Amino acid sequence: MPSKKAKKSNKDILQAPKGTRDIRDDDFYTMQGFYEKAQEVAVYYGFSGIFTPILEHTDIFLKGLDADDDAVKEMYSFTTKGGDSLALRPEGTAPVMRSYIEHGMGSLPQPIFLYYMGPYFRHEKPQKGRYRQFHQFGLEIIGSPKAVLDAIIIQTGYQILKESGREICVKLNTLGNPENRKEYVKALKSYYTKHFKSLGKADQKRLETNPLRILDSKDPDTIEVNQDAPTLISSLNPESKKHFKKVLEYLDAGKVPYELDHTLVRGLDYYTHTVFEYFTTIEEDGGKPLALGGGGRYDGLAKAMGHNKDIPAVGLALGVDRVLEIAKKGAYSPKIKAKPKFYFIQLGFEAKAQAFGIIETLRERKIPIKHSLSKDGLAAQLATAEKLNIPYTLIFGQKEAIDKTVIVRNMETRKQDTVKIENLKDYIKKLK
Ligand code: AMP
Repeated sequence: MPSKKAKKSNKDILQAPKGTRDIRDDDFYTMQGFYEKAQEVAVYYGFSGIFTPILEHTDIFLKGLDADDDAVKEMYSFTTKGGDSLALRPEGTAPVMRSYIEHGMGSLPQPIFLYYMGPYFRHEKPQKGRYRQFHQFGLEIIGSPKAVLDAIIIQTGYQILKESGREICVKLNTLGNPENRKEYVKALKSYYTKHFKSLGKADQKRLETNPLRILDSKDPDTIEVNQDAPTLISSLNPESKKHFKKVLEYLDAGKVPYELDHTLVRGLDYYTHTVFEYFTTIEEDGGKPLALGGGGRYDGLAKAMGHNKDIPAVGLALGVDRVLEIAKKGAYSPKIKAKPKFYFIQLGFEAKAQAFGIIETLRERKIPIKHSLSKDGLAAQLATAEKLNIPYTLIFGQKEAIDKTVIVRNMETRKQDTVKIENLKDYIKKLK
């Protein structure tokens, strides 16, 4: 199909598309470290992993999310050669719910605890902390309406974020059940209609499309109007009140610090009861705390997506890119990056040829090493070991290759031992 835009120059196409980026060097490993740690915490709390496709039918997002939600407004959707409308997933909850329904997970013992991670796509205006391809780590508990599950989700997300070494705060609200929510939207509509002229322009439009969203408006005029807006908490029915009270009690017991915030609404129509967001506690983002993730209970999603009945569920998504920006150095360091204790040096053709076998033996024995097989010469390899601050070198030359031995050299004391390769593992054990 001919493009409407002028052809990009070579200089342009040799750069990653706007709002996307390569994740390299230490950033690559910090992200791996985050995923490792997040999974470790999630598995501990009873979740198991799922990968869903990056492409989904556009309709699961159109039906499941609100038209006014960023995830929908900024969705990358396209028609395939076969005429299907597909989208690069803008969020993770609708795909996981689709998978639960598709695979009949409802017939398994309930609820189902799932975690997932990977890239998500929104055609947003790129700015600091906001990308077109970003990464999320999400949790969902599907198949039960119990308040304790809201608390487990909040607690698990909180513990993952706390590993960043930063102080984290949870902001919390309840939207009650659908009737409460309907009543509340009515009350809000009538309040905002009275103050229509004082609202920001975009919020005046929202009064028709999604009055709840006016509550979390960033417009200074609207913020002023919001100060006296009616709150939902006071008009909750007893069942919803009980649900929220239980969530708070569980969080108190788990010592999760939270603040109640009645302007927190997460505008999606399918949210019911608990909604929450995680923030850094100190002023990070040009004077404002930085939003690291959020979630809530979404008992109405399955039906909105076209399923024949409601499926109670609660979940969250953490913004991995943001978490990594605020994490203390070394907070998320992956096991794969274990600091090598040994630098492997080979000298001569025969030793280089046998080196592969030795490196493999060490790997099987989980002994992390560094090496530079492309280098020859003892001095160059020793200098690299010295530079990397690695405590021991394994020197493997022609003689050692014939004798099936290796020289273990302590880089600090310069003491050396010749060890039979078959005894290397036991020898290394004693070094610790
Ligand atoms: P949401 O799915 O909109 O509730 O977003 C959950 C979290 O994902 C947010 O709190 C952010 O930390 C992160 N996030 C959302 N959109 C982006 C983006 N475009 N770039 C980077 N992080 C994002």
